[in-house]
Amino acid sequence: MSQDPTPDFTPQRLKALEEIPVDALPSPCYVIHLGCLEDNGKLLASIKECTGARILLAQKGFACWATYPILSKYLDGTTASGVHEALLGLEKFDGEVHVYSPAFTETDIEKLSHFAHTVVFNTIDQFTRFGPVLDTKVERGLRVNPEHSTVDTELYDPAASGSRLGSTLEALERFEKEADHPIEIDGLHFHTLCEQDSDALEETALIFEEKFQPWLKRVKWLNFGGGHHITRPGYDIDRLCRVIDHFKRKYNVDVYLEPGEAVALHTGILSVTVLDIMQAGEIKNVIVDSSATCHMPDVLEMPYRPRISGAGDAGEFANTYRLGGMSCLAGDIIGDYSFKEPLTIGSKLRLLDMSHYTMVKNTTFNGVPLPAIALYDPKTKNTNLIRKFGYADYRDRLS
Ligand SMILES: *Cc1c(COP(=O)(O)O)cnc(C)c1O
Repeated sequence: MSQDPTPDFTPQRLKALEEIPVDALPSPCYVIHLGCLEDNGKLLASIKECTGARILLAQKGFACWATYPILSKYLDGTTASGVHEALLGLEKFDGEVHVYSPAFTETDIEKLSHFAHTVVFNTIDQFTRFGPVLDTKVERGLRVNPEHSTVDTELYDPAASGSRLGSTLEALERFEKEADHPIEIDGLHFHTLCEQDSDALEETALIFEEKFQPWLKRVKWLNFGGGHHITRPGYDIDRLCRVIDHFKRKYNVDVYLEPGEAVALHTGILSVTVLDIMQAGEIKNVIVDSSATCHMPDVLEMPYRPRISGAGDAGEFANTYRLGGMSCLAGDIIGDYSFKEPLTIGSKLRLLDMSHYTMVKNTTFNGVPLPAIALYDPKTKNTNLIRKFGYADYRDRLS
């Protein structure tokens, strides 16, 4: 047996994603497996049941709103990074609309005032300027920076020294000393994790508790942000529940989680087609009708090598290729892979785990066409093509 390059898929998930019929779909095309998505929803709902926590979908990571009727059954609402995502949550998801942004404009706040359940401010200055503009029904929170890093990738570490994301303990203490009265917030929010297990949450939560103790006693709710890899096989759910329980009991607060990736983890594929194969020195380049930079930018940002169904590491099987995209960026490389059978022009490849941080980050750089979006229902075995993009979508983002 060959080594599984990403052993964190359960065999059932892998099988489910490999069974999605793609031949009748356009290429490239994202396909969401509704059964897998629903299973993630059920797992998250089980955490709500055992702890009483509330769980929101972070739309930044996954905003395929055609699936919101399914997710609304299991989650309490959405969280947004600004007005547009908040409006999408309002329009398409049956639940609470939470919003956090590194900075709001006055117009943003006037709009959000009509429908947001909760607005979380990044700084005390934004809170004092805009808090009074909000309708009194809207809950006000403050994002704090516990200044404890558990993330190795700098690009994804909001708790790093000098980070612009969240107010430090020092800023809070300074404000209250100068103002001579306590800050009147309803809740505290922190977000410092990225694809992590609950040991990283526990570690961070302890430091958060120690530092922000006086405010913990005064607020109605806590939000532990996203980055919890809850739906990854092997995630320590019991520990997560213990951490939530501890805060709920000790401080009599509501606890929110707002995962993005975990909602859509291992639920979809990107189906692509081989357009050309060319030898360059030692390297056999394959060009597919997709692009790392346009359709899966985390491949370059994180960086990581997405898993491809039936493919192994370079050299593992007889036919090794370097897969590249159709943009003119020299580094638009998906990765090196090997296959048992040689690839040919027209071969279809199935990139796995392409639901989250893909369609939300797409660009039309180089005029590369956007992948279509389809849903696969395992009950009926039907694929439903819900969106196709064309020239007008490229043109209308420019002028
Ligand atoms: C990105 C983000 C999330 C979601 O993070 P995931 O890693 O997708 O779970 C939640 N809250 C905030 C504030 C974020 O910036």
